[in-house]
Amino acid sequence: MRAMVFEGVGRPLRPADLAGPEPQPGQLLLRVRACGVCRTDLHIVDGELREPKLPLVPGHQIVGETEDGRRFGVPWLGWTCGECRFCTSGRENLCDRARFTGYDIDGGYAELAVADERFCFPIPAGYPDLQAAPLLCAGLIGYRALRLAGDGERLGLYGFGAAAHILCQVARAQGRRVFAFVRAGDEAAAGFARELGAEWAGDALGPAPEELDAAILFAPAGELVPAALKAVSKGGVVVCAGIHMSDIPSFPYELLWGERVLRSVANLTRRDGEEFLALAPAVPIRTEIEVFPLEQANEALARLRSGAVRGAAVLRVSG
Ligand SMILES: [Zn+2]
Ligand SMILES: [Zn+2]
Repeated sequence: MRAMVFEGVGRPLRPADLAGPEPQPGQLLLRVRACGVCRTDLHIVDGELREPKLPLVPGHQIVGETEDGRRFGVPWLGWTCGECRFCTSGRENLCDRARFTGYDIDGGYAELAVADERFCFPIPAGYPDLQAAPLLCAGLIGYRALRLAGDGERLGLYGFGAAAHILCQVARAQGRRVFAFVRAGDEAAAGFARELGAEWAGDALGPAPEELDAAILFAPAGELVPAALKAVSKGGVVVCAGIHMSDIPSFPYELLWGERVLRSVANLTRRDGEEFLALAPAVPIRTEIEVFPLEQANEALARLRSGAVRGAAVLRVSG
């Protein structure tokens, strides 16, 4: 099978011809149709997440098809132990022994992938392969972040990429007001946010136009944490939704005072996936994508790194 392989930090992904994976009992063998490119993939190739399997086929937003024509999505959470105190209390996202797709397990930057059937989701009918791919991480982990942000009306989204462009649609459908915080001068991102229903879009480090009830940080920049705490009202929640973030600068306790909450969101549970994929067609969420052939995975990652992607980057693998 054709694949793009990560062999170590500082080296571009290498196009390779690999032997196809052999499914073990309980695993599905999938012909990969599309695979979303996530910021987490960038953190892996940039060496910010330190323990990937090597060599590695990245990619954890896989839309694939079984031999008998059923479409499945494969997300980041690839396996959990089912026995630890997290797994047995509805928090399998925190499982001590969890294994992740495109990190501990080869992912979807390849023509074939195997995945534990218990962690795969049927893809909602009506979503073409390419448009479905970003639902599987940007959408799904974004949805978990939105749930943990509470049900406040005034929601700030920091960083308007793949996740925020999906979440903005969900939040608007829930009747919330959305404020988009983007890099100073990024008129393209600000305009994109307004098109999707944000009532205001502006500089992430500048003042918010009014107090917020909650803020979700998708951009991996630690200096946004005090900025977001400053923007939320008493009792407000700030959720860090990424897997990696630069260091958070120190800030006065006053910013946290007033029962403000600062928390992270890690991974996903299968329940998140089931709820979100049922919600997506009801909103309905429309994903905006930039499509790259599998062989241009390095170009897709570079565009994501520079912040140039409008919506989500997706690799077209087959079909
Ligand atoms: Zn566990
Ligand atoms: Zn991801």
